[in-house]
Amino acid sequence: MSHPEPLTTTEAASVPLLWHGDVVVVGGGSAGCAAAVAAARAGARTLLVEAAGFLGGTGSAVLDTFYGFYAPGRSDRVVEGIGWELCRRLLSWDQAFERPNTYGAGTGVTYEPEALKLAWDELTEEASVETLLHCMVSRVVMDEERITEVIAETRAGSGRIRAKVFIDASGDAELAWRAGAAVERPGGERRVQPLTATFRLGNVDVTATPPGELHRLMRAAAESGDFALPRTEGSAHRTVLPGVVHTNMTRVNGVNPLDPWELSAAERLGRRQVHEYTRFLRSRVPGYADSYLLGVSTRIGVRESRRLVGRYVLTRDDVLSARRFDDDVAQCGAPIEDHAGGSSTIWQYVGGDGDPTGMTYGVPYRSLLPEEVSGLLVAGRCLSATHDAHASVRSMAQCMAMGQAAGAAAAIAVSAGRPPAEIDVAELRTALMDGGALLDSPSRPRTREP
Ligand SMILES: Cc1cc2nc3c(=O)[nH]c(=O)nc-3n(C[C@H](O)[C@H](O)[C@H](O)COP(=O)(O)OP(=O)(O)OC[C@H]3O[C@@H](n4cnc5c(N)ncnc54)[C@H](O)[C@@H]3O)c2cc1C
Repeated sequence: MSHPEPLTTTEAASVPLLWHGDVVVVGGGSAGCAAAVAAARAGARTLLVEAAGFLGGTGSAVLDTFYGFYAPGRSDRVVEGIGWELCRRLLSWDQAFERPNTYGAGTGVTYEPEALKLAWDELTEEASVETLLHCMVSRVVMDEERITEVIAETRAGSGRIRAKVFIDASGDAELAWRAGAAVERPGGERRVQPLTATFRLGNVDVTATPPGELHRLMRAAAESGDFALPRTEGSAHRTVLPGVVHTNMTRVNGVNPLDPWELSAAERLGRRQVHEYTRFLRSRVPGYADSYLLGVSTRIGVRESRRLVGRYVLTRDDVLSARRFDDDVAQCGAPIEDHAGGSSTIWQYVGGDGDPTGMTYGVPYRSLLPEEVSGLLVAGRCLSATHDAHASVRSMAQCMAMGQAAGAAAAIAVSAGRPPAEIDVAELRTALMDGGALLDSPSRPRTREP
């Protein structure tokens, strides 16, 4: 579909002004919520704009486990700051617990998604973030190369939102694309990871079937021809709620999630797969005979879509060689987890492609900065990275860490009266560490998972 032309200030002037302030964050997922909290805590008047009726994004709509706080093979955390504050709150409510990953991606933090929505409501309110839900940004307004306003669609019609700095945490690089920044997007030869509809089942005895046995039963069921199971592995794990399991099993391949027709078809196919996997689990897997479908993800999970091509593009080599940068604003120890299409998943670890090493690489500030557009930062899964690097850095803990970095950078830019690309990165790194972020965690000898 055609690239939407940005509006000029004159063209946008007839749209009523809805809000103006210092920082606007578009997208209230892991990255956007952390960005808004960081910017507001640093004193910037901050608006968070979210298309859905709740905060947490993919974390609330599709998932229930944060990865990336721990690197595989290490028992100390590699991400703290706002993301870990969120976890502490969920843990203190008994709405989260830590558990080893099925495949060795490091310890995860499994949470109750309804509690996550509430925790983000609280953290944003406590920081005095102003929040608009059910509000969809549709256009950008540019003054030369600087983004000055966005147009948002609300139930009361269109409104103009003005700020000094914008943060694109839309997951799909919506603002960067609309403002004319270079982006990488699906189509042609470019592979994107498959989409997954997750689901929860009630009245399950999850201890009755270990993961290895579940996968063997899946393969046997698929080979028998009795069940159409596009993926014969994946996770069905216990949750905060007794007798309830959360799954990550379905797989919709070959979809461009930015094509409205393909995305609509994927939602329907994902839902059909959910019912097929439920039929398989109920009829073939010990512990599931009397289970029932509690719910399907609010929307199908999109792992990868459009990404910024920014001042630095994080690469597979950066990940596998555990590279550090002078402008690191986050770190990551998660393996490259490429769902790659087909029925299997490829895993490659930081610091080597064999066993987990516990090493981390850095996420440079430049990978949040567009080259062509001023007044804009990008955070979360639409950062500037290649397909392979993205398959490592997209975990929610890293999205929160990037969000915190973008929010802190935006507040520094506002108070210094400079574009985000011209702030003092040393000042940003100090502000992040003062805010609890972990930036320089040395590699440790291998330790056992707790
Ligand atoms: C199936 C699946 C399984 C995964 N498993 C895990 C896992 O187990 N653990 C883990 O840590 N990570 C996992 N990931 C990766 C992780 O969930 C994502 O990379 C991460 O949640 C992305 O966070 P984000 O804040 O960048 O984007 P999102 O959480 O997607 O948030 C983007 C938000 O922007 C909003 N938005 C978009 N456009 C607009 C607009 N124009 N106006 C207003 N709002 C807008 C959206 O509604 C959305 O809420 C998984 C991903 C998928 C899809």
